[in-house]
Amino acid sequence: MATKRDYYEILIVVRSASQEEIAKAYRKLALKYHPDANQGDTDAVHKFKEASEAYEVLGDAQKRARYDQYGHAGVEAGGGGGGGFRDVGDIFEAFGDVFGGSILEDFFGGGGRSRGRVRRGADLRCDVTLELEEAFRGVTKTVSLTRHAACETCTGSGAAPGSQPETCRKCQGRGQVIQASGILRVQTTCPICRGSGKTIGKPCKTCDGQGLKPHEIKLEVKIPAGVDDGMRVRLPSEGQPSPDGGPRGDAYCFIHLKQHPIFHRDGHNLVFQLPISFSQAALGTTLEVPTLEGKRSLEIANGTQSGTVFRLRGLGMPDPHSGARGDMLVETVIEVPKKLSKRQQELLRDLAEQDDHEITPERKGFMDRIVAYFQGESAEVDTHKTKN
Ligand SMILES: [Zn+2]
Ligand SMILES: [Zn+2]
Repeated sequence: MATKRDYYEILIVVRSASQEEIAKAYRKLALKYHPDANQGDTDAVHKFKEASEAYEVLGDAQKRARYDQYGHAGVEAGGGGGGGFRDVGDIFEAFGDVFGGSILEDFFGGGGRSRGRVRRGADLRCDVTLELEEAFRGVTKTVSLTRHAACETCTGSGAAPGSQPETCRKCQGRGQVIQASGILRVQTTCPICRGSGKTIGKPCKTCDGQGLKPHEIKLEVKIPAGVDDGMRVRLPSEGQPSPDGGPRGDAYCFIHLKQHPIFHRDGHNLVFQLPISFSQAALGTTLEVPTLEGKRSLEIANGTQSGTVFRLRGLGMPDPHSGARGDMLVETVIEVPKKLSKRQQELLRDLAEQDDHEITPERKGFMDRIVAYFQGESAEVDTHKTKN
């Protein structure tokens, strides 16, 4: 750590200087090295911060006494003083008062108000419900939002027609007030005018003196292909206006997906249950299956089991960022008919008879396992009996 310069030396004052002399010396240096007056000059910014740090200590009687007694160590250890400023804005928040309104106006071109950081407007939320097909292709939707806009009666001033807003007496129109808490003097938004610098004697009846009124607006939202339930689309600068001339907030459009009668979404894949008959599964067939882009033919091999999944590559949902496509997964479900015609019953009886004679190797294996299982169980019971 570099050796710190003496605070009196920085402010170019004698050790016996009065508080007024210190404040005056700081004001002089701060104006000289003010970043706005020394654009791009890093040395000036350094000097400005250095002077501010010195003033933070010497400008406060208690800190100054500690500094006189213990030097830098006296104000650093737990004192909270010394080099705590992150940026120039902080310095103005803390010491705005030493500059006074008139001098500040030289810098900022009128109205100390610009000193305060402008607030961004609030974000707004809207919701949109999509069909799966819309999410698949991407769609432009019109959404309604309730957003604040200038009141037509008073054109946003908040003052009743024929009257004018007045300069706030509490802050003299600066919008900021200095509040002392302990040894710190902090600049905050004026509680009377809430930062606007103006008060309204005769409020506009339409907007209760707010100057703003909620308006229903309609926005077109471009929703990219592939969005999923729970995603949101950002609409930059479509939120509430800033209360003090700053940027608007954003609007966020939340996506909801309706259930599709056929397709179920699983990430980028689309899953679809295809009912097939026992004979189609056993003998094999080619079927037309629906996709979001029309029909596709799907070959069902003979001997297909219930629950077999066929994958149609690239027929799923697109990724909203990359556009890469998921797959369509077709899961077979073998349907057992509930009603049979006489002829069908005859055929199935014939089939059942055949089944008894020709047990398939798979079923044979399964039957064997069942038999073995029951035999094993009874054998165990027998061992127990012999033991007891
Ligand atoms: Zn109004
Ligand atoms: Zn005020």
